[in-house]
Amino acid sequence: MRYVNRKDIAEPDSLSKPSAAVKDEKDAAELFYATFDPTQSPRPAAFTFKAYKSYDVQHALRQLFLAKCAYCESHLGDSLEVEHFRPKGGVTEDPLHFGYWWLAHSWENLLPACPGCNKNLCHHLVTEHTTEEEFKAAQLKKSKSSYGKANQFPVSGKRATDTTHRLKDEAPDLLDPTVDDPASFLGWSRAGHFSVAIAKSSTANVANRALATINVFALNRASLVRTRTEVLTELRFQRVEILSELEEELAQGISAARIARIMRRVEVMRRMQQPEKRYSMLVQEFIDDFVAELSTHPGLAAI
Ligand SMILES: [Zn+2]
Repeated sequence: MRYVNRKDIAEPDSLSKPSAAVKDEKDAAELFYATFDPTQSPRPAAFTFKAYKSYDVQHALRQLFLAKCAYCESHLGDSLEVEHFRPKGGVTEDPLHFGYWWLAHSWENLLPACPGCNKNLCHHLVTEHTTEEEFKAAQLKKSKSSYGKANQFPVSGKRATDTTHRLKDEAPDLLDPTVDDPASFLGWSRAGHFSVAIAKSSTANVANRALATINVFALNRASLVRTRTEVLTELRFQRVEILSELEEELAQGISAARIARIMRRVEVMRRMQQPEKRYSMLVQEFIDDFVAELSTHPGLAAI
């Protein structure tokens, strides 16, 4: 997950003007929720919203997030889903909540997501301790456990239940990449073979929000970990190549020109962390670590 400044893109016209379809839907939803009773059994179905995801909204979200999922940084391809950060049709953690229906057409509440992050689907999860053998063995059977956001929206503050409540007071547990800087919360395990997301630190606020985000969006689901680990494997390969090149250079006698050549190789690696690249935050952390490693390399420290 990577911070994105929502102001970089103007609010789409269908929401800001708003379009006739959005206006009609807002009016219809207001009438619908005036008599909605979530205590009925079974709970009545939520209002069906459609107008929030018109083409201009999808296009704006794709531009804003450089065609990547707001949560996991996978490339979206044709699978962009317009996701409500605050769920519009109900709240898993509060069965009597109507859902944040009044934010269904709110630009600030919309993010582009991949189906794996947005929907509750069956996945195997990977941890820092999962071995390659365990990973392979798990794939042989379909998981019976489902993960992914759907209507989950845990908060640590006072939950807003209608338009009169201040969203500010909610203190959401989930990170919003247009509000929070995920780099302060989410990190990557240095242990094991797989690319596993972890909390950046164990301080209560960071760990609570990071773990809620990792769990709710299933950021360590096997299918995602597999593609992320492909990127990590490429980074590890390049690191080993550069280190072995450095050893060869050192054997010939170190010089400023030789160090500059090595550092250029690292800068080329940094192309993989450009904002439009998938899993750019993982790449950035890996390369920052590598640069720190190089700066304390015994052969270079003598210079
Ligand atoms: Zn995703």
